[in-house]
Amino acid sequence: DSIHSKYYSYDKKDLEKLPKRKAYSNKGTFGRVLVIAGSENMSGAAYLSAKAAFRTGAGFVEILTTESNRSIIQTQIPEAVLTTYNPEQLNEEKEKIKKSVQQADTVVIGPGIGVSKESHQLLDLVTLYVEPPVVYDADAINLISEYYNTFPLLRNNTCSRLNEFSNTLPPYSIITPHLKELARLMDKDVRELQDNLLDTADRCANDSKLIYAIKDARTIVTHKDDRYINHSGNSGMATAGTGDVLTGIIAGLLAQGLEPFEAAKMAVYIHGLAGDYAASQKNEYSLIATDIIEALGEVMK
Ligand code: AMP
Ligand code: MG
Repeated sequence: DSIHSKYYSYDKKDLEKLPKRKAYSNKGTFGRVLVIAGSENMSGAAYLSAKAAFRTGAGFVEILTTESNRSIIQTQIPEAVLTTYNPEQLNEEKEKIKKSVQQADTVVIGPGIGVSKESHQLLDLVTLYVEPPVVYDADAINLISEYYNTFPLLRNNTCSRLNEFSNTLPPYSIITPHLKELARLMDKDVRELQDNLLDTADRCANDSKLIYAIKDARTIVTHKDDRYINHSGNSGMATAGTGDVLTGIIAGLLAQGLEPFEAAKMAVYIHGLAGDYAASQKNEYSLIATDIIEALGEVMK
């Protein structure tokens, strides 16, 4: 019970914490998001994150992806600026990547980038150039896990491993693992994490400079000794691409100036509300990730 009492949730009143839209404004006022996502044969993740960032209110969204995705993404989302790289020649692309990263107010990296040698190099480059806040999602988390699995000394003690890892990332970064990704990162199995979810959340948060959104049917967001548990959302959201939408919502709120921990909690809550609205318009069976993006219009209203 004492553990439970640490937890709080949001309801509709908390939406008042959303950043206000200034009347005297332009697209620069509402921030520039860089979505680093997608790889060969994977374009959907970049589209979903970028569109969700726009629908949340970001003024400007740039997508950085592989050359092979150029025409498809340009067709899917003409509002976004598109920068592409050749994964085989990342060394020659360094300046371009650096420029995109440094221009952005907030950077998302991971959805659909894969776990190849090239995407590892990309993650390294971005982490080198980036200033917080950064959102690490999906394959960025898998890449970090792989890296740690190559250091057996770090495997024994979960706490030190997570802390060690958090020291390599910019402080106040947000990391958004679902349980399988978190299990890889902590070198545990999913069942073990699931059975001790509150302990798991404590372990992630303790001494960590990072903000964790531990995604599940009831997502937990932690930072230091603060514990949020989300109560919006439904089983319709257990479908491919919904995590990429969440990542875009977080980035959209960050770009508009919300503090990282607040942005993570608010995004998780809004994502669930949009899922609930989408399910009420359709049903939980038929809901797909793009329905959540379209429902953002109603939720933000
Ligand atoms: P991902 O696995 O990265 O695509 O993320 C899935 C997203 O959908 C996360 O934000 C989850 O919290 C959410 N989600 C998945 N299943 C459910 C569920 N049964 N109820 C509520 N939210 C869910
Ligand atoms: Mg995901």
